[in-house]
Amino acid sequence: MNTAWISLILFLFLLASYHKRMLSASGFVGALALALCFVFFKEWLFLSMMIFFFLSSSLLTQWEKTKKRAITEGQTEKGGRRDLFQVAANGGVPWVIGCVSFFHPSSYGLFAFLGSLATVMADTWGTELGLLSGGPVRVFWTGKIVKAGTSGGVTAAGYGGGFLGSALLGVFAWVMLQVFQPPVLAGLTFSRIFLVSVSSGVLGMSFDSLLGATCQTVLRCDTCAEETEMRIHVCGRTTRRLKGLAVLSNDGVNALSSLVGSLMGLGFGVLFR
Ligand SMILES: [Zn+2]
Repeated sequence: MNTAWISLILFLFLLASYHKRMLSASGFVGALALALCFVFFKEWLFLSMMIFFFLSSSLLTQWEKTKKRAITEGQTEKGGRRDLFQVAANGGVPWVIGCVSFFHPSSYGLFAFLGSLATVMADTWGTELGLLSGGPVRVFWTGKIVKAGTSGGVTAAGYGGGFLGSALLGVFAWVMLQVFQPPVLAGLTFSRIFLVSVSSGVLGMSFDSLLGATCQTVLRCDTCAEETEMRIHVCGRTTRRLKGLAVLSNDGVNALSSLVGSLMGLGFGVLFR
């Protein structure tokens, strides 16, 4: 199959995602640019992993959506649709790694890519499954119980979800490695790929929670006396910053975590040889 056909299929796939309300218009443009770039570089392994992350996470977000919306009502800005900022936050670091790998292909590129994607995968799966499970939400290093949907809050089920998400990504990456067999990645074992994915996913997710709870912007609506991530609250009033860094929105936290995740992937890739 030539690249023109693959590009067309990806275009139609993302268009369908837009119609299914998994992507906003800006998210569609961002995801298409990223996908076509990987097609141009012939990074088939990375492209398949990105699609796996996007599709599994989007389906998970859509699942029991009304139940989850009721929990996070008034707290988080975005619904299930991924916009350009979310695409950049989750796909920016993998995109850079994909570009570097084209010019300098090596197994380190795969480890960094895997670590970065495992982190956002674990975070997404942890958030989605954690929201549905109920159970007390805690700040993980103090044990303090917080409201469901609070940034940085984790549940036992959330950690289970994070583990599951990064484990699935590890298995998928290995299967795709057998399909595409890039010569530069010959000889990588299943256990090494699986361990890199799970270790960096679970640790990266913890870093995300830590950063979310300590540095992420927390806004407050004085009218409703509620903490929120929304700049304009559901009631229509403008919110004010209560704590956290103004530049570090939820997308900023995710982008930084995926960068840290890529470094963890590199580290574990060297460690588990
Ligand atoms: Zn309000």
